[in-house]
This record gives sequence, structure tokens and C-alpha cells, in this order.
Amino acid sequence: MKEIQMVDLKTQYDRLRSEIDNAIFSVINTSAFIKGPDVRSFEEELQNYMGVKNVISCANGTDALYLAMMSLGLRPGDEVITTNFTFIATLETVALLGMKPVIVEPEAGNFNISPEGIRKAITPRTKAIVPVHLFGQCSDMEVIMKIAGEHGLFVIEDAAQATGADYFFSDGTVCKAGTMGNAGTTSFFPSKNLGCYGDGGAVYTDDDELAKKIRSIANHGMKLRYHYNDIGVNSRLDTIQAAILRVKLRYLDEFNASRKAVADFYDSAFAGCNGIIVPVREKYSSHIFHQYTIRVPDGRRDELKQFLGENGIPSMVYYPGPLHLQEAYRFLGYSETDFPVTSSLCREVLSLPVHTEMEQEQLEYITDKVLHFFNK
Ligand SMILES: *Cc1c(COP(=O)(O)O)cnc(C)c1O
Repeated sequence: MKEIQMVDLKTQYDRLRSEIDNAIFSVINTSAFIKGPDVRSFEEELQNYMGVKNVISCANGTDALYLAMMSLGLRPGDEVITTNFTFIATLETVALLGMKPVIVEPEAGNFNISPEGIRKAITPRTKAIVPVHLFGQCSDMEVIMKIAGEHGLFVIEDAAQATGADYFFSDGTVCKAGTMGNAGTTSFFPSKNLGCYGDGGAVYTDDDELAKKIRSIANHGMKLRYHYNDIGVNSRLDTIQAAILRVKLRYLDEFNASRKAVADFYDSAFAGCNGIIVPVREKYSSHIFHQYTIRVPDGRRDELKQFLGENGIPSMVYYPGPLHLQEAYRFLGYSETDFPVTSSLCREVLSLPVHTEMEQEQLEYITDKVLHFFNK
């Protein structure tokens, strides 16, 4: 059996090698390394796939969050509501722009920000909500957009882990993750569902004026050549990455389907196992399984992780610590016991290997070992 990995980018490359190599070498041949034609073509292709009017590519998913926040005119002192159970990028960008992050619990079932929690956290200074579509499933956007509408708040969706996931509104409308708020952001970090061979990111918006602003801020705030209307940054997707992404975008639905097949296999194998809570799949969203994250209650998570490791099965804890307890964010003044849901998730979650190249033999081996752990 092939060695089991959390993600297997090498085997995926071997499968796409000729297309990827052609894409890379055609960029080198023209040597249009910055703002070459593939960048705009990729943006247009991603616009079509996402069903959004504007895709603005940039250097990474964290920059995408800055660009969205800066372009919406969020100011120091504004309060921005976001989730406690995610990667640090959302909290970090809010804090670095001098705004006040207001942290809200996730829902224990689906790991995404609690809409009720958002409601309770709103004050007269609240300006925006930043939901994260964690592990590949959308937050409850219908409710979140309704709350935002009632209070005149911006919504910036962090869709870095959910490229290609669908949200189903109760009126039958279907939207891709990242296209429902005022702006959405994503990352093309190599291990993401749509990943490049380095760093990359993008902002989505249906608002053409906002799109112009984002494009300008990503390019030093320049409007006409060497005339600067905004204080900007330098954040670009390079042409080689765009060329690779054009190839991989054509496979995205197939990639997401193979991840879901892995999740389906895990779900049915674990169906009778009391030691495990499998990921909750909400009716309002498809799930593209950026991670397959189980909960292991009764304090047995670390023991299971170690047992799997001893048997050659990698697993990861996303995320081991609540954000409100991180050293850098002590200044926010939260106390240890403020977020019991986040704290218990951090003790219980375990992400199992899920990627586009998993073999049946590997899946059977992993599920056998997990079940053995609980039955021994
Ligand atoms: C990966 C990720 C980011 C940041 O992306 P980078 O491209 O590494 O900057 C932001 N938010 C979430 C939820 C992520 O998973």
C-alpha cells in the first residue's frame, strides 16, 4: 500500500503532469511573469465557474481579506464579528487594520459561526461580519445575510476552504461559497481544494465599483499610471500560478467529488461506532470536504491520534487552541471560560486524511484501524 498522507499533491501532479508542464513552460517561453495574459484569463474562468461578476486575484488568501476590508472602507475602531474556531487569518487581518475583532462561538455540529452568536455580539459600532466556511461547508448564509441586512453590516465571506461549495437558499437560489456577501475571499495555498504551486488568493464581488477599488488597492492604490487615489499594497497572483490554476480549475468539480467520495466511505464505515461523531452535513450547503473532521469525545482524541500515528496514519488537529486564548490576542480581554463550545471542539476534533488521490486500500486500512481502536 502506498504511504498515506494528509494531502498527496505529488500523485495529483503526476496525473496532470503534461497539462501542468505545458502551462508552466508556456509562461516561461513568453516570460510575462507578472500580469501575463493567463492572470486575466484565469480570473474570467473563475468568474464563470463561481457565477460572480468580478474575481480579483492577489498574492494569498490573507491578503484577500485585507483587500476586501480596506476596500469596503472599514476604519480603525470599527467592530468586526468573526468566529473563534478557524485559522488565524480572519482575526489577524481585523486586528492589524486597527479594528476590534469581536469573537463569536461556532456551532458544535457544523463548526461554523453561530448566527445566534452573531446577533448577540452586535453593537452600535459593529460594521462587518466575517463568516468562515470551515472545512468545506458553508456557514448559514441566508440567516447571516438577513442579520446583516437588518443592521446595515457588510459581510465578507472567507471561502478559502470552500472553493466550489454550493449554498442553497430557501427560495431555490443556489450560490457558490464566497459570492453571497459584499465580498468573498479565497486562498490558492497548495493544499486547498483549488490550490496552486505556491501562494495565491482572490477576492470575489458582484459590486463593480468595489471591484475597481479592490483592484486599485491591490496595485498600490494606483488609479491612472503613477497617480495614487488610495493607500494600497502590492498583492499579485503571478502568471505561472495563474496558468497552473487554469488547468486545475477544469478539474475542480472532479476533485471535490473525489473528496466527497472519501467522506462518504468514512461516514458509512463509522456509522455504528459510538466513539466518533462524524461531520454534520447541513441541508443548506454542499460539503466539499477540505477536511474530514470527526469529533472524539470522552478525552480519547489524543490517544486515537497517537494510535493512528503508530500505524502509519497521519491525522491533524484543526484547530488545537481557541483564538481568544492566543498570546497575541490577550489584549482583547477575553477570559479562559468565555467560549465553552470552541474549547470543547479544540479538545475533540481530529481531521483524517482526505485528498483527490486516495486509494480504496488506504481507506479500508484507515477505517479498520479507527474501528479497531474503539473495539479493542
Ligand atoms: C488558508 C486559509 C487562509 C489564508 O490563506 P493564505 O493563502 O495562506 O494566506 C485564510 N482563511 C482560511 C479559513 C484558510 O483556511
